[in-house]
Amino acid sequence: MFVTITALLAVAVGAVGAVGVLQEEQPASTAAMSTPVVIPQRGRAAPAYREKFVRRAEVVEASRGYARARLREAATEATLAQRGAERRARSLERLSAAAEARGAELRRELARARRQAERARQRELARQRRIEEMNRWVVPVSNYEITATFGAGGDLWSSDHTGLDFAAAEGTPVGSTASGEVTSTGWAGAYGNQVVVTHDDGTQTWYCHLSSIQVSSGESVGPGTTIGAVGATGNTTGPHLHLEVRPGGGSPVDPYAYLQEQGAL
Ligand SMILES: [Zn+2]
Repeated sequence: MFVTITALLAVAVGAVGAVGVLQEEQPASTAAMSTPVVIPQRGRAAPAYREKFVRRAEVVEASRGYARARLREAATEATLAQRGAERRARSLERLSAAAEARGAELRRELARARRQAERARQRELARQRRIEEMNRWVVPVSNYEITATFGAGGDLWSSDHTGLDFAAAEGTPVGSTASGEVTSTGWAGAYGNQVVVTHDDGTQTWYCHLSSIQVSSGESVGPGTTIGAVGATGNTTGPHLHLEVRPGGGSPVDPYAYLQEQGAL
């Protein structure tokens, strides 16, 4: 490469020099017609011509020197460029490795976040199940027989029947129909031993004729929490639970229909 460029430079400079000689020594009209054979020879050339020739040789030499310097510069630039490229390649390799490591870390974080989300979902489901469980309504006794319905007439009542009678063996556990707070316990005349539970929406349930009371006022209860036992206290002919449902603590409604509405029956 170096040799080729310097050779071409030498030829180019030589050619220009030769044309310059022709134009200086002959008129333009004859120069075009005659054969240009100008070969400088030692001893035969005129002193002025030799001087010019020497100057041109110096110019050629200077050009060669310049070309060599440019080549050296180009070579240096190429080396620097190569080193720069290698540095960039190493840097990119490092960045690539770092990116892969970060990617792996992010994948682990994502997996962790997914596990956490799943645990949170399970906790939320459990919470909802507990809420549903707490909002559930249940029948207050098991192994019962309904012996008097709401609104029925009878000798024992001064007016129509205000509740629902569940006949069951004396001592059968009586559970709260739903979650709420015990708001009254004790003797209630014709109702005998009575427990009143006030539920979250203000609805009251009355449990009457109990043989025993097993909760105190202010106590929280859930669906099915035992509040007492079936008895025959108060105005009754035999052991049974008299259940009343009073929305907002007001007038009684049909407990059977209410329990059906709440999905307990
Ligand atoms: Zn009754």
